[in-house]
Amino acid sequence: MTIDHKEQASITSVDDLSSAVRYVLETTHAIAACPFHLDVSFFMGDEAAETHAFIRAKKLVRSDDKTWEGKALRQEFRRQLNEAADGCCPHCTQDKPLR
Ligand SMILES: [Zn+2]
Repeated sequence: MTIDHKEQASITSVDDLSSAVRYVLETTHAIAACPFHLDVSFFMGDEAAETHAFIRAKKLVRSDDKTWEGKALRQEFRRQLNEAADGCCPHCTQDKPLR
């Protein structure tokens, strides 16, 4: 599979607000997905990356040729950033031996 294929698969998900937000957050490295727990994302603590992600999200064009509304985007950004764990994956932290 080529890189073009992968990018295209990601871009088709811009029609879904939460996928679109997750896509820009991940591609700008504002959040990162855990390589071991694919449903877990964690927050990189980089405010510049978050701003960059937001600007990028506002420019995303959906398949109906419209862009996302700023207010809806901001709410979804806040929701995903709140949900993201701080700095590292909580499951991986749990799995670490305590002694
Ligand atoms: Zn993990």
